[in-house]
Amino acid sequence: MHEYTPAADQVVRTLADLTRRRLAEPRSLGRIPSATELQQSLGSTITPDGVGAHHATELWSEVIAPACLSPDHPRFFAFMPNCPTIYSAAFDGLVGASSIYAGAWLEGAGAIHAENQVLRWIADLAGFPASAGGTFVSGGTTGNLSALVAARHSARSADERRSTAGAAVCISESTHSSIRYLLESVMGVDVITVPPDDRGRLTGKQLGSYTQSIGPDKRAEIFAVVATAGSTNAGTVDDLEGVADVAEEFGWWLHVDGAYGGAGLLAPELEDLYRGIERADSFIVDPHKWLFGPYDSCALVYRDRELAQAAHAQNAAYLDPLADASEVNPSDLGTHLTRRARGLPLWFSLAAHGTNAYRAAIEQTLLVARAGADLIRADEHLKLLVEPDLSVLLFERTGWDSSDYSAWSSQLLRDQVAFVTPTQHKGEPCIRLAILNPTTTVDDLLAIFESMH
Ligand SMILES: *Cc1c(COP(=O)(O)O)cnc(C)c1O
Repeated sequence: MHEYTPAADQVVRTLADLTRRRLAEPRSLGRIPSATELQQSLGSTITPDGVGAHHATELWSEVIAPACLSPDHPRFFAFMPNCPTIYSAAFDGLVGASSIYAGAWLEGAGAIHAENQVLRWIADLAGFPASAGGTFVSGGTTGNLSALVAARHSARSADERRSTAGAAVCISESTHSSIRYLLESVMGVDVITVPPDDRGRLTGKQLGSYTQSIGPDKRAEIFAVVATAGSTNAGTVDDLEGVADVAEEFGWWLHVDGAYGGAGLLAPELEDLYRGIERADSFIVDPHKWLFGPYDSCALVYRDRELAQAAHAQNAAYLDPLADASEVNPSDLGTHLTRRARGLPLWFSLAAHGTNAYRAAIEQTLLVARAGADLIRADEHLKLLVEPDLSVLLFERTGWDSSDYSAWSSQLLRDQVAFVTPTQHKGEPCIRLAILNPTTTVDDLLAIFESMH
């Protein structure tokens, strides 16, 4: 299994060729078979003597891969599409083959340094100071958890006398589900849900007046507020400046969840939307969403890296040699220890193409999203529900109820036209298109709208 035999070489070449074809050829949207159907086609694959690489490769090509949807298809609009650049996807395979332990400087210095250059670029986009630093974690959920744990640790260390410090966090109704789950179920922290404005945004005004209304005792429990830069459902950006004002007044940690929308910092025309982000204490953006990287990757950046280290460094005798390193260990900056160098695919592609190409790709998706919004406005059957800040379109088909949306959505995938899933806005069913793929065209959107007539 570990010897590079001629047979192993053949397998490596076959897999490289399959990788090449996956990236070179048009992909299908894919299907969603049942477990029963898959069990029938796959048979028993885990056996004492193995089924052999040839058969396993066939199973991959004929059964497994086609039974997974393609979030990188230009007509995949559900949830968050994923559209890695060719370079980043190909490099991901090489990272896997390179056996890099990227948790500690001692073992992965080169990879970590390259990742740190990308993190510095992201910190600069957000306007963070030189004290900033961070790491790449597996996804937005882990990024949010790591940031909130650092926030609580920092609040508790700053105020050891107050037993209530570090007990509650303010969020809004459009905050991502991961945050409420992490606070309540993982951290055991109270969630204070601030009512949003009419576009679903958390504003400084609402945050100030709502936390005033809950009384001084409850307010004293608050140690952080989470603002969203690009809500998942509607793509709206919270009033970061106003929220930062309130956070500063009360000494709360400001975490900005830009898992999806953080990438919009690249677009000069959106500059006003992000004003205030430079005052955040922590910030995340997922390369596997709108920064064209492969799964799974989240860039987590702290304004003051040392506060994160104080919260996350693990102690164990066998880890002591790692702590002696001259540079910060990524394992000390998040809720992880062993770590794949999951920032490297983005590093390679960004280094090769340059940041202007990334800016252009973001602007292309914004352009298509705006044209899509115009088409919806002009369509007598459709109604835009939220003016888009970024590249998510939320709209309804007049006269349709949730069963109409579901039937239409299933038919669209069955016909391999597109993958679009229904959602809700203010309790009513509607449709959401997340436009993150720079190869998606206005014609692709038109095809969706026409199928709703
Ligand atoms: C997708 C998303 C998350 C969760 O990120 P994962 O990478 O799926 O863990 C968190 N917040 C926002 C705003 C998101 O869009």
